[in-house]
Amino acid sequence: MESLQKKVVFDGEAASMVMKELRGSFRSGKTRSYEWRVSQVKALLKMVTDNEKQIIDALLSDLAKPPLETVVYEIGMFKNSCEVILKELKQWMKPEKVKTSISTFPSSAEIVPEPLGVVLVISAWNYPILLSLDPVVGAIAAGNAVVLKPSEIAPATSSLMAKLLAEYMDNSCVRVVEGAVDETSALLDQKWDKIFYTGNGRVGRIVMTAAAKHLTPVVLELGGKCPAVVDSDVNLQVAARRLISGKWGLNNGQACVSPDYVITTKDFAPKLVESLKTELENFFGKNPLESKDISRIVNHNHFARVAKLLDDEKVSDKIIHGGEKDESKLRISPTLLLDVPHDSLIMGEEIFGPLLPIITVNKLEESFDLINSRTKPLAAYIFTNNKKLKEQFVKNVSAGGMLVNDIALHLIVPTLPFGGVGDSGTGSYHGRFSFEAFTHKKAVLYRGFGGDASLRYPPYTETKQRVMKALVSGGILSIIGALLGWSSKA
Ligand code: NAD
Repeated sequence: MESLQKKVVFDGEAASMVMKELRGSFRSGKTRSYEWRVSQVKALLKMVTDNEKQIIDALLSDLAKPPLETVVYEIGMFKNSCEVILKELKQWMKPEKVKTSISTFPSSAEIVPEPLGVVLVISAWNYPILLSLDPVVGAIAAGNAVVLKPSEIAPATSSLMAKLLAEYMDNSCVRVVEGAVDETSALLDQKWDKIFYTGNGRVGRIVMTAAAKHLTPVVLELGGKCPAVVDSDVNLQVAARRLISGKWGLNNGQACVSPDYVITTKDFAPKLVESLKTELENFFGKNPLESKDISRIVNHNHFARVAKLLDDEKVSDKIIHGGEKDESKLRISPTLLLDVPHDSLIMGEEIFGPLLPIITVNKLEESFDLINSRTKPLAAYIFTNNKKLKEQFVKNVSAGGMLVNDIALHLIVPTLPFGGVGDSGTGSYHGRFSFEAFTHKKAVLYRGFGGDASLRYPPYTETKQRVMKALVSGGILSIIGALLGWSSKA
């Protein structure tokens, strides 16, 4: 009886079993063929198309995510990734012929893309469909077997994915393991060929430490405080609308690329604030706590975390718009704060919620040092028509990615890599970069049995050394020179 009541746990033994099965499937060579990869990408496409309604409902349950946001940013973006793969995969899989040098003459060479093996994808709760399936489809396109560990903080989406992937995918090679810390730890103890983790930097360090034990490479898609610099020389209404849609219109600021804080000049701040207030009311009405067009805070822990940033006494007199909270509904209204101190809690960590502090400076150029004095953000934004300022921003500010005059759109361009730098992450994906994230570029050199110069073999002589030195340096003239016994200064 007692054993019947015991919760089924996914422990080290279960993790090792999954690994063994998937390793076996990978070794059988099944995942390598173009046909298998395409069949699985198509199955994922069909899965999200057939189940759009269920996905929308799961995200409503986990986050009260507005259906438009789900359809565009979760399902639509994922479908685009699949379409790009289906169009380009044959080309990506082709070995790339490369030139060889005289040192290996006669020879030819190529770079052969090779799947890594069995990979683990650990995903986050804020875009639980996209952040799970996008790396998974990259791993499949590259010919790997894959285990997905969705986030337990979006439970409806996690169990939906477990159900749907079991139904639509080849389960000998693609698996979902649901769970939280214990289950993820059991998975992390295994030897993977790559771990792709999306989430915060604290857990990123745990993942990297576990990976280091097995020399497993990682992609870490982390976060940080993304700045948005706003010049006075802009179309103010457009800038305000784009800031709002990139903040509250992206899962209520619970997005890694949401603007975390704004920097503008002291002179321009009042105009920007007025425009933001007007457009916020246009978008979400007079009572935004009731708006259906804005996600809620994901859970009570995160609500308490965001509320604490707002309740910090250092910012209590800095709230210039919003600030209302309804804990029973996990809602905090879109909130603007002006001139918060740099040592306030809100400036000390990633906000990941509906608060937007505005920092003012005398000259916008000061913003570069301000941004660069912090850890490197995942994205940095600037709104300006000033060509010189744009150029300086791109040249001087370090960030995972950058966007001029809009928010977040850079991540839907499949020809651009998406990923962080420094504390905001390591590695990247999207488009071809997803394929490459899960591929080893194998260097292959082909030679025949001709041209077997005795030069490279002992007994070594001075002439051999001279000619070999010239050969390694590669210049045809120096080789001729060495053969003829000319002295060289090199
Ligand atoms: P989360 O709480 O869902 O955690 C992410 C994953 O880590 C989950 O699968 C969870 O089960 C696992 N996990 C948690 N604690 C663990 C532990 N002790 N050991 C092993 N695994 C553990 O998500 P989160 O971290 O709250 O996500 C928000 C963060 O992620 C923000 O910093 C955000 O900027 C970042 N993020 C980055 C991207 C990106 O693409 N770069 C996208 C989304 C979110």
